[in-house]
Amino acid sequence: MSKTHNTTAEWKAEPKPAKYEIVGYAEDDNCMCCGRNLRHGVKLNTGAIVGAKCFAEYITKPASYNGKPFRYDAQSIIRFAKIRERWSEKERNRIGVYQHHLEFEPA
Ligand SMILES: [Zn+2]
Repeated sequence: MSKTHNTTAEWKAEPKPAKYEIVGYAEDDNCMCCGRNLRHGVKLNTGAIVGAKCFAEYITKPASYNGKPFRYDAQSIIRFAKIRERWSEKERNRIGVYQHHLEFEPA
């Protein structure tokens, strides 16, 4: 994994919210963070669409699991985005995906 991460001017101009929330899933878009083409895009509460890898590794702080920092991998983020896009809150809760899984602190 490279340490450097290029961000687009558009992304740099984007104000950071108090929290990023995954609000949906988008196919075949561009990552607003780095500009690369995405097969799977994650829709955020700010209106931005970003890649799951950028979201997991650069955009957000680690989540906490049993009091320890924990990062979801890109596959998990894509799964959350798809579940958020397609399923109601009741359905999400039934499979153990709760609101706190969708909310992240900005890095
Ligand atoms: Zn990106």
